[in-house]
Amino acid sequence: MRTVLILGAGFGGLELATLLSRSLADEVRVVLVDRNDSFTFGFAKLEILFRDVPPEAVRVPYADLAHPGVEFRREEVTAIDPRTRRVVTDRSEYEPDILVVALGADYDPAATPGFVEDGHEYYSIDGAARLRDRLDSFDGGDIVLAILRVPFKCPPAPYEGAMLLHEKLARRGLGDSTRIRMISPMDSPIPVSADTSAALVEALTRRGIEYTPGQLVHGLDPDRHVALTRAGEIAYDLFIGIPAHRVPAVVEASGLTVGGTDGWVAVDPGTLETPYTNVYALGDCADAPVPRAGVFAEDAARTVAAGIAAKVRGSDATDRYRGRGACHIEFGGGLVGKVDADFLSGPAPRAPFTAPSVELAREKAEAAAARIQRWFPGRVSE
Ligand SMILES: Cc1cc2nc3c(=O)[nH]c(=O)nc-3n(C[C@H](O)[C@H](O)[C@H](O)COP(=O)(O)OP(=O)(O)OC[C@H]3O[C@@H](n4cnc5c(N)ncnc54)[C@H](O)[C@@H]3O)c2cc1C
Repeated sequence: MRTVLILGAGFGGLELATLLSRSLADEVRVVLVDRNDSFTFGFAKLEILFRDVPPEAVRVPYADLAHPGVEFRREEVTAIDPRTRRVVTDRSEYEPDILVVALGADYDPAATPGFVEDGHEYYSIDGAARLRDRLDSFDGGDIVLAILRVPFKCPPAPYEGAMLLHEKLARRGLGDSTRIRMISPMDSPIPVSADTSAALVEALTRRGIEYTPGQLVHGLDPDRHVALTRAGEIAYDLFIGIPAHRVPAVVEASGLTVGGTDGWVAVDPGTLETPYTNVYALGDCADAPVPRAGVFAEDAARTVAAGIAAKVRGSDATDRYRGRGACHIEFGGGLVGKVDADFLSGPAPRAPFTAPSVELAREKAEAAAARIQRWFPGRVSE
C-alpha cells in the first residue's frame, strides 16, 4: 500500500484527505500533518472581529476527522527534501511515496516598516481579537485600511472588512466622527470581475469610505502615526493593514520555490505537480494562476486527488486544474454577494457577480456547514 503524506490540514489538505479516503481508502494510506489541533475558516476572523464570537467557538478540532484510511498527526514540519520526499517534523520522519505540500501562506508584517509597532490586522485569530478590543475603545477619528502587498488571501476580504467596520462604528454612533480610507496597490478590487469591482466600489462610496486604488503604503511612522506612500503621507488614528504574505519558511528552505513567481512554489498549473517526482503543491503556497482563497485550494485538491488516483492505478490523469470557486462577499446588513470565478477552463477567466441578498447569506452559512460535515465526519452537530 502506498503512502500519501499531506502537509497542512487547511482548506486544501482537508479536502484532499477527504477525497482520497472516499476514493482510495483501500489503496493508499494517508497521513495528514498539521501543527495545530484544530481548523478555522479564514472568514471566521470576521466573526471574531465584528460579531463578538469568541475564538474558541470557531475552532473545529482535528480529533473529529475520523476518515477511513487517514491518520492525523499533530506535528510541526521542520524540513522538506523534495528530491527524496523526506520530511522531518518535531516528532517524526517520513519518506512517503507521494508528498503533497498544502502549508498555506504565512504573514510577514515586518516587511512593512512600522507596521508591527503601530498597525493592526485581522488576518490572524489573535490579530482579529486584538483589533476587536482596540475598536471597543475607539471613539472616532481617521482609520486607514491598506493592502500591503499582493497576493493576499481572499481578495474581497479587505472590502468586507471596510464595510463591516463602517457598520460596526455606525451602530456605536461613531459614523459622523470617523473617516475610513481604503488604500490598495491594485487598480481595482477584483480585477477578474469588473461587475464585482464596480459593486464593491459603489458600496464603499455609498458608505462614504474613500477608496484609493493603485497606491501602496510602504511603511508607517509609528511616532507621528502617518502612513508613507509615494504620493505623500496619510495621517491616521488607527491603521489596519492586510499584511504582506509569503510561503512558510520551511517551504522556502526546501528549495520548492525555485522557479516560482515571487517566492511561491513552482507548480504545473494543469496538474499542480512540482518539478520533483511525486511531489505536489496546492492552495495558498502554490504559484498557480489563481487568487489565494480556500475555494481554489479546494478545487486544486480535486485535481491532485484525481492525479494521485491515476498514479496509484497506473492510468492517465485526465482531470486538469480549472481554478474554479465561488467566493461569498459580506456587504454588511446581513447581505452577502457572490463572485463565481473560473480562471482556467476557457480561453479567458470568467467571474460573474451575483448581487448581495439574504439568500446568499444563507448559502454561505450552508456551504460552511456542509464542508465541516464532509471534512469532519466524526463531529457531532451542535
Ligand atoms: C479574513 C479572511 C477571510 C477569508 N474568507 C474566505 C472566503 O470567504 N472564502 C475562501 O475561499 N477563502 C477565504 N479566505 C482565504 C482562505 O482562508 C485561505 O485561502 C485558505 O485557507 C487556503 O487554504 P490552504 O489549504 O492553502 O492553506 P490553509 O488553510 O492556511 O492551511 C495551511 C495549514 O498548514 C499548517 N501549517 C503551516 N505551517 C506548518 C508547519 N510548519 N507544520 C505543520 N503545519 C503547518 C497550518 O496550521 C494550516 O492548518 C479568507 C482568509 C482570511 C484571512
